[in-house]
Amino acid sequence: MPTYARADVVFERGEGPYLYATDGRRFLDFAAGVAVNALGHAHPHLIKALTEQANKLWHTSNLFRVAGQESLATRLTQATFADTVFFTNSGAEAWECGAKLVRKYHYENGNPHKNRIITFEQAFHGRTLGAISAAKQEKLIKGFAPLLDGFDLVPFGDLDAVRNAITEETGGICIEPIQGEGGIRVASVEFLCALRELCDQHGLLLFLDEIQSGMGRTGKLFAHEWAGITPDVMAVAKGIGGGFPLGACLATEKAASGMTAGTHGSTYGGNPLATAVGNAVLDVVLEPGFLDGVQRISDVFQGRLRDLAGQFPAVFKEVRGQGLLLGLVCGPTNGDVVAKARANGLLTVPAGDNVVRVLPPLTITEAHVEEAIGILAQTAREFA
Ligand SMILES: *Cc1c(COP(=O)(O)O)cnc(C)c1O
Repeated sequence: MPTYARADVVFERGEGPYLYATDGRRFLDFAAGVAVNALGHAHPHLIKALTEQANKLWHTSNLFRVAGQESLATRLTQATFADTVFFTNSGAEAWECGAKLVRKYHYENGNPHKNRIITFEQAFHGRTLGAISAAKQEKLIKGFAPLLDGFDLVPFGDLDAVRNAITEETGGICIEPIQGEGGIRVASVEFLCALRELCDQHGLLLFLDEIQSGMGRTGKLFAHEWAGITPDVMAVAKGIGGGFPLGACLATEKAASGMTAGTHGSTYGGNPLATAVGNAVLDVVLEPGFLDGVQRISDVFQGRLRDLAGQFPAVFKEVRGQGLLLGLVCGPTNGDVVAKARANGLLTVPAGDNVVRVLPPLTITEAHVEEAIGILAQTAREFA
């Protein structure tokens, strides 16, 4: 179905942060499959994990124990606030699991009426009926009514609006610590801390969507770590599989207490192939120094992007984001900037607020930063 406005380019192979098209062109890939290829393309450790697993066992279903799933769950819970994990194939499914968990938690605790979740304007949680009902953005929901009831939308960052939206029926608050699709809008540390407090005061579950912001993207394993808070439940995907379809819903034992045998499921979720790759991604991301390296290269990159914005203020009006989840607020239409940058050999991703998202692999070096800055400067000159 023609649901995508695709760029007319076909890639045949990738290597690190580079993609090679069938027509011979080479691109610096700072789209990274929309923050999915966290370790770039054809990472030797991921290839080894995938091919070794491919020679042994692909899929058995969740009727049986899955060794790779157990080890990945153990490692994720050791590295985070979580005690328990449900594996999925995608972000939307990880988010759905979290939304169902919030409802089930209150149901099992004798509060079945606490079935509403507060969500935020310009949010993105995926394309299932549940996820579009939660985000309620016009472009997501048009023509897909009736939506799922149970989501109360408030402006992003507006604490009073959150307070006023809490009723006897509220069961949780769901937020992206940094809105990705919405335009790299960063929730302040104060706001995230205040949401945590509100949840504690009112017995609500704090449900973070870290599908885009997680797995090292901001220079911490998860973006909420910057705020020093922990959620009760969290959706993860994108970078977790490094390009293999994998997602996960992480939760505390308490929050997940209603998710007992038979209450939720997935045929493929967390199968041996996916979790072999997920474990391999985690090997690299949890290596001592890796996340420090992301923070270091981010500092360099952000500094260079701010120089660029200073040089071309009509084209790049503002630099947003954290770690390597970065956005450039554009003067010209963001889609035109993305297209020109692509023609010049750099891949980026458009987002809300007329932003161009810059989401390189977490493994880039200063040389790649300089190459990207050169292409963006060339692109900016073409708008002058
Ligand atoms: C990409 C994304 C999703 C949806 O993930 P899919 O794998 O496309 O279903 C949900 N939430 C956020 C924040 C995302 O960036």
